[in-house]
Amino acid sequence: MSFSLPSLPYAADSLEKAIDKATMEIHHGRHHKAYVDNLNAALVGHDTLLVKPIDQLMGELKDVPESIRQKVINNGGGHANHSLFWATMSPNGGGEPTGRLADAIKSTFGEFSNLKAKIKEAALARFGSGWSWLVLASGKLEISSTANQDTPLMVGNLPLFGIDVWEHAYYLRYQNKRADYVDAWWNVANWDEITKRFEKGS
Ligand code: MN
Repeated sequence: MSFSLPSLPYAADSLEKAIDKATMEIHHGRHHKAYVDNLNAALVGHDTLLVKPIDQLMGELKDVPESIRQKVINNGGGHANHSLFWATMSPNGGGEPTGRLADAIKSTFGEFSNLKAKIKEAALARFGSGWSWLVLASGKLEISSTANQDTPLMVGNLPLFGIDVWEHAYYLRYQNKRADYVDAWWNVANWDEITKRFEKGS
């Protein structure tokens, strides 16, 4: 058993409303693939860890020997974060959430635009590489941000979606304009998938 790179659930050129084809191909086929390959390499000889679902592995780091823990954080986190990232975008995305998730957003942040503003604030405040997240923490919605490939799963929170703010995620089209990339990201937000995660976690 080993971890494998999930296929993109859509064509690489189908998220042009936010992300260009070349970025998608390099990001998925090279960056995400490298996380998977490096994770598998780190876990050679650790068969009980190789069979765990990736989200479970990242939530149980105490079971990972210290000698390889940072490699698992970097590469297992990279695998978990990117797998979620692809799934929570869609060519048919955009718009606003509905139903119970919309209600929870409203009671936590007020207007939907406030959620967007806070996600953007966290994305822009992240110095260097990392992620801006909407998570469920003890059943409540929270905005958070992590450095590098750290995942909210490491502290027991459930990420509903995250925006990758590593330069590899946006530099070809947006260069240094991280804010423009974050603004465009909402055009591909897959609220069906994000809502499913919310329903399962809350
Ligand atoms: Mn990335």
